[in-house]
Amino acid sequence: MALTGVEIFKLLPKTNCKKCGYPTCLAFAMKLAQGQVTIDSCPDIPEDIKQKLAETSAPPVKPIVFGVGDRAVKLGEETVLFRHEKKFVNPCVFALEIKDTLAESDIQRRIEEVLNSEIERVGQKLRIDGIALTNDSHDGGRFDAAAKIIAAKAPYVPVIFCTDNPVNAETAVKLFPDKRPIIYGANSENYESMANTAKTCKAILGVAVSSDFGRSSGGLDELATLTEKIKALGVTDIVIDSGAKKAKDILRDNTFIRRAAVKKNFKPLGYPVITFAQREDSLIEALITALGVAKYSSIIVLSSIEKWKNLALFTLRQNLYTDPQVPMQVKQNIYKIGEPTSDSPLFITTNFSLTYFIVSGEIENSKVPSYIAVMDCEGLSVLTAWAAGKFTAAKIAHFIKESGIENEVKHREIIIPGYVAILSGAIEEKLEGWKVTVGPREANGIPAFLRSRAA
Ligand code: SF4
Repeated sequence: MALTGVEIFKLLPKTNCKKCGYPTCLAFAMKLAQGQVTIDSCPDIPEDIKQKLAETSAPPVKPIVFGVGDRAVKLGEETVLFRHEKKFVNPCVFALEIKDTLAESDIQRRIEEVLNSEIERVGQKLRIDGIALTNDSHDGGRFDAAAKIIAAKAPYVPVIFCTDNPVNAETAVKLFPDKRPIIYGANSENYESMANTAKTCKAILGVAVSSDFGRSSGGLDELATLTEKIKALGVTDIVIDSGAKKAKDILRDNTFIRRAAVKKNFKPLGYPVITFAQREDSLIEALITALGVAKYSSIIVLSSIEKWKNLALFTLRQNLYTDPQVPMQVKQNIYKIGEPTSDSPLFITTNFSLTYFIVSGEIENSKVPSYIAVMDCEGLSVLTAWAAGKFTAAKIAHFIKESGIENEVKHREIIIPGYVAILSGAIEEKLEGWKVTVGPREANGIPAFLRSRAA
């Protein structure tokens, strides 16, 4: 269990030397207990105590970086069971399964699908993050050949090598030196040689107690025993799979694992979870994946990429992995959509990300170059900001005057959201010389609104 501030204080030098930047050791201990400072800030803690404190203050689900460079993704580091308690930290990673039994052209096509999967939503780039190469052939040569295609075509995409054959795993993983891949398939029979390969190749080790490789399930007890044995061999970057395949089993096992890690600080299960969601029916696969996103999977392997499925899953993941206490917001600014001139329309809205991206998307669809004045309302949407007194006539007038837009446009017309039509008179009073036009209530009315003005 994590130590309290007072328990940490008892382990500190108690000299109140202030080298950590705090006036007393007690103040430092309290900050350390809250996770607001790191142990390194105190230079006088003996090494053994430092190690003890580092262990107790580490997140209950081990943080692991999978892959390298721009496409690297972080796993784990979670601290809560429910998002509203604090937040979920590292979004679940999606990986596309590629079987080594496929023809080369099909392997190439599936890699392309991963590389082209990126979309942008509310300012964030979302994509299928990785590839899971499965050794369905059980043939080392085929597995190696498929790994070579991936290494050549997508060298920086994080890769999971799924095989329980240590020789095949080693051959493939050596094609990705220093790329932090995952070798998935360590079990009670092969864990020593798999751990050895993972250690030598600086790879992450995927541990499974039951899988498609034909072993019987020993349950979470066996999984916990295995991770401890692997840790004793010097491998600590581990992802775990309970072997659950059915929705109810995934829900049960993932919940148990997260609860054991977070509530009991049970280290043998304090690792990111990998889930295999592949199904013949895409809708069922999407539902299983959605369950994994919501309930504690850190990596989910999918059998196919379809635009509708990606959009639904990306949106769910993005929504669950935002901080519920911090609204997503864009910077206060005057944004140009297209190449507006001094005659182009000027819209105003709040800086809630979703509002901004929906409004800017609809203006883009209309093909009428425009300006959007985005006002800082602490990330609230239009109606909420108005109700909270943050999107008022006085504040809008002040923002417009300070924004410099008067130097950009010749006209003096501002289009306000239809939901705050009530503000139009007050804005005209405060913003001398300006005309207020009430725009549509919903952003999807913007193209028709702009077309009607042009007519
Ligand atoms: S640096 Fe260490 S010993 Fe000095 S006040 Fe801070 S916690 Fe105490």
